[in-house]
Amino acid sequence: MGRAFVYVILGGGVAAGYAALEFTNRGVSPGELCIISEEPAAPYERPALSKGYLLPESPARLPAFHTCVGANEERLTPKWYKEHGIELVLGTRVKSADMRRKTLLTATGETISYKILIIATGARALKLEEFGLSGSDAENVCYLRDLADANRLVNVMQSCAGGNAVVIGGGYIGMECAASLVINRINVTMVFPEAHCMARLFTPKIASYYEDYYKSKGVNFIKGTVLSSFDMDSNGKVVAVNLRDGSRLPADMVVVGIGIRPNTSLFEGQLTLEKGGIKVNGRLQSSNSSVYAVGDVAAFPLKLFGETRRLEHVDSARKSAKHAVAAIMEPDKTGEFDYLPFFYSRVFALSWQFYGDTAGEVIHYGDFSGTTFGAYWVNKGHLVGAFLEGGTKEEYEAVAKATRLKPPVEDLAELERQGLGFALAV
Ligand code: FAD
Repeated sequence: MGRAFVYVILGGGVAAGYAALEFTNRGVSPGELCIISEEPAAPYERPALSKGYLLPESPARLPAFHTCVGANEERLTPKWYKEHGIELVLGTRVKSADMRRKTLLTATGETISYKILIIATGARALKLEEFGLSGSDAENVCYLRDLADANRLVNVMQSCAGGNAVVIGGGYIGMECAASLVINRINVTMVFPEAHCMARLFTPKIASYYEDYYKSKGVNFIKGTVLSSFDMDSNGKVVAVNLRDGSRLPADMVVVGIGIRPNTSLFEGQLTLEKGGIKVNGRLQSSNSSVYAVGDVAAFPLKLFGETRRLEHVDSARKSAKHAVAAIMEPDKTGEFDYLPFFYSRVFALSWQFYGDTAGEVIHYGDFSGTTFGAYWVNKGHLVGAFLEGGTKEEYEAVAKATRLKPPVEDLAELERQGLGFALAV
């Protein structure tokens, strides 16, 4: 059994949705494009799963957040794919890939062949078992990567209203889930080994603002230690969390957000890997010229900072996908991908954006006891990164523009004094 397509996108997440829209904008013909996804739903805006999806009142549900609504573009429902002659093969895992024969074998036994393959397999949540712990299968232990995880989290959350949740991990997932749990009237304790939350991005000063805000909402922080085991009841439900520092936290539910691992296993030994992802060039093309990689799984040259990076953020998934399609469909008119890293998060009434890089010295500015503040990163005499909480649209645009231009900064004290004004004047 087999089918053949000109273009196949492997993976049906954020990048796949934005690639599909770009393919139609550039004139793909009906029957030429196929998307294969393990998930049962057409591509959707994954960030919604830790935000609107978890709200107790009027939660976001599909079809409302199919791609590409996150970038204020068209909403691609299953009907849209049908109308555009794009084959959506959902609920189907690809179990092996043969880059020489240009074929993919699905778990249902079908062979799908391609002329051009776009790998958009994203990443999976790291499990406790990968750190030598156990308990992931307990019915009240939740992860959050896909729709099935989100539905499970919602059910568990609803079954322990007024109870205690322990959130393991102080990154994006931990922070956003903790906020959502609080909004659902669950008491939250966050546990992570670092000295402060969002350790890869936040400075101690920025982190302390968010931690204080979370504390004001009732969240308890236990830092500098990790989970050592769960206490289970006779039904295999977690009733308490034991930490390495000896403390024991009663728990009605646990949310684990301890990082992700790109889904590269199908391609090991066939494509060049780097930084845990599939190495691509500025056209998002892998070491095999018929194969492209985009989104969380791609390690691409970040022109602005002269090095290869793999980013785990939605904006990069959207833009790398579009760029790959442009490079495939109009190779002569498409240059190198020139991306400015952009991350954001929204929790409670807070909202921040970050652009660029966190190298060099940090200058904080603004009112850390108020609602608008930020930081600049200055490396080798140039602005390379900017963080802003509580900005207006114009202010966010200004820090983005300033970071992309990498203006020289001679006087750090003057930069601190000017604060947001510096970016607005660039
Ligand atoms: P994904 O969206 O993960 O899609 C990968 C797809 O490939 C999935 O559908 C998967 O099932 C499929 N797949 C994988 N292997 C196979 C296989 N063998 N066969 C078939 N299908 C396969 N980023 C931000 O910048 N801001 C945020 O606020 C933010 N919030 C987030 C909240 C949550 C809960 C999560 C999980 C992520 C969040 N992110 C956020 C990150 C962002 O969602 C990702 O960067 C983005 O989804 C990456 O897109 P992708 O297409 O590369 O991968």
